[in-house]
Amino acid sequence: MIPVRCFTCGKVVGNKWEPYQQSLKNGCSVNEALDSLGLARSCCRGMLMTHIDLTDDQMDYDPKPKERHNPGPKPEPKPKPQPQVSGLKRDKPDN
Ligand SMILES: [Zn+2]
Repeated sequence: MIPVRCFTCGKVVGNKWEPYQQSLKNGCSVNEALDSLGLARSCCRGMLMTHIDLTDDQMDYDPKPKERHNPGPKPEPKPKPQPQVSGLKRDKPDN
């Protein structure tokens, strides 16, 4: 998730991440993509060039990913193990 503003100059760069990625997918060079987005300063250009989007990686650490992403039917609860009933009944423990 890219920061909304450039840390150095304060220009809004948060809305440029998606178009930047799309330009790179379409075969533009990094320089062309940044120029087309109107990012002239090196600080803002660096914000996009050096950003690594870790959002998908963070999803691996979601505590309940299956419930959120794939609700599905709940698994049936396992039957409780029944205590073994033997013929002998002990009231007192052996000494
Ligand atoms: Zn900047």
